[in-house]
Amino acid sequence: MIKRICLCAVALLACMIDVQAQTQVIAHRGFWKTEGSAQNSITALEKAAETKLYGSEFDVQVTLDGKLIVNHDAKFQGFVIAETPFSKLKKIKLSNGEKLPTLKKYLKKGKKQDIQLILEIKSHKSKEVEDKMAADIVKMVQKMGLEKQVEYIAFSLNICEQLAKLTPESEIAYLNGDIAPAELKKKGINGIDYNQKVLSNHPEWVEEAHRLGMKVNVWTVNKEDMMKKFIDMKVDYITTDQPLETKALLP
Ligand code: MG
Repeated sequence: MIKRICLCAVALLACMIDVQAQTQVIAHRGFWKTEGSAQNSITALEKAAETKLYGSEFDVQVTLDGKLIVNHDAKFQGFVIAETPFSKLKKIKLSNGEKLPTLKKYLKKGKKQDIQLILEIKSHKSKEVEDKMAADIVKMVQKMGLEKQVEYIAFSLNICEQLAKLTPESEIAYLNGDIAPAELKKKGINGIDYNQKVLSNHPEWVEEAHRLGMKVNVWTVNKEDMMKKFIDMKVDYITTDQPLETKALLP
């Protein structure tokens, strides 16, 4: 009897590991390599959702006056975002004609889509500002009831540590590639989201993370041979500018 229970437990565990092993696709800065889209635009988010991906990634910066906006670079059309009030930035358009999205507007649109929102909080030179960004973002996400749909990523270890304190139930992954999964786990950070070169040099981190119940994401994988390699390595997510091509390779 005991032997039978043990065998069932082993089978169940194998099944759970197998479920975890299914690689899924995240559109890097949304699905922007398609007509009418642009990086980090609301259109790119909607196109990613239409494509039925696991997630759509986007970047969050803060303006001088504390407004959270969605943009990748620290500069937006000549203005340093962190040193510019929102009133000056809001008039400038993205390359597809959309207005620069505020985080609030972006999340509001995201809530209507069936896709995970992979929210990258960009680093800031001031710890105080980073702490406030993390707190303001978590508060906004909770107020909008998006705790399950939003997953957090950041290069700043400080931001990841703040998130682990503020919202320990959330998916939080560290991007900077210089810390082993077990060390992050001790800090309450439950995922790694590492550059493809890092995971190529440390393939053992995929297994280590999974053993600890952590998720593994890899960026930014745009070449077919690398997509195949990471699917074979059983990472949880591939972040790519080529979501259709990646999806086509999945088993
Ligand atoms: Mg990003």
